[in-house]
Amino acid sequence: MTKLLEIENLKTSFFTEAGEVQAVRGVGFHLNKGEVCGIVGESGSGKSVMAKSIMSLIHSPGKIKEGRILLHGENLIGKSDKELRSIRGNEIALISQDPMSALNPVVRIGKQLTEVIIRHRKVKKKEADKIAVDLLRQVGISSPEERLRQYPHELSGGMKQRIMIAMAISCSPELLIADEPTTALDVTIQAQILDLMNELKEKTDMALLLITHDLGVVAQNCERVMVMYGGMIMEEGPVKDLFQNPKHPYTEGLLGSLPKQSEGVKERLIPIQGSPPDLLNPPKGCPFAGRCPYTMSICEKQMPPYFEVGIGRRTMCWLQDESKKDGANHE
Ligand code: SF4
Ligand code: MG
Repeated sequence: MTKLLEIENLKTSFFTEAGEVQAVRGVGFHLNKGEVCGIVGESGSGKSVMAKSIMSLIHSPGKIKEGRILLHGENLIGKSDKELRSIRGNEIALISQDPMSALNPVVRIGKQLTEVIIRHRKVKKKEADKIAVDLLRQVGISSPEERLRQYPHELSGGMKQRIMIAMAISCSPELLIADEPTTALDVTIQAQILDLMNELKEKTDMALLLITHDLGVVAQNCERVMVMYGGMIMEEGPVKDLFQNPKHPYTEGLLGSLPKQSEGVKERLIPIQGSPPDLLNPPKGCPFAGRCPYTMSICEKQMPPYFEVGIGRRTMCWLQDESKKDGANHE
């Protein structure tokens, strides 16, 4: 399989008055051409910051401190704004949770969409109008001519998200990053939007990076999943395998299968007790140590490395190292 995107040791921080917030703390993964991959985690786990880093949309006080973002083997970090603008849209597109943040409320939909088409496809206005109508049909919008004359506030949430998808695919990107694309929508519309993205994916063979806190969305749509926590990837693997047999206590927690701390029995525990690590002062050891029912003495002292735990699977947890188990988790 051809690698489309490779992220290496990505670190993104925000330099605030209170200090450096380490939102992404050394993330590495790759995405193949045409693949659908999920990134799952609670809010504040670094998912959106990572998506924005890939898009080169991190602005002051944020900064990509370290790492490489390779698209077709070419590092995007260090490219000029002009080059990046051309890559965004032509090669990578982002749709976010809140379509209103990307749509201008005082400009008609048609004008916004055709501007994108003219800029990226280098066509004349008339041609762009035709393409816009066709795109709206592709994303399942009926009477497109009428919609194009409307303003964003005249459309429903689901309709706006369809418009965002139309804009995103207008330049046939090879990678579509969807950051919580359906969170603000009701369940039926959510399913329709996800179906639509899958359909477009099938037709065009674009890769899809689906960022969500919803495990059901990942289970139904993705081949592979990465579980993020505290700005790092805790676990990665094929969706079915990972959900059936999680190897990281945080994944167990997300799946609601963690044992209670005081008892050894499996009991549902949603949400996971405790709060995520303070990214102003991230822990030296495992980011999950403060909430993990299996914490051992090494966990707080030393960051666990990745352990391979099957085909295409890795987990960042000391439980995989027999020699490090010290029975510190005395019951
Ligand atoms: Fe829990 Fe330790 Fe594994 Fe972290 S490394 S998840 S604290 S057992
Ligand atoms: Mg987010």
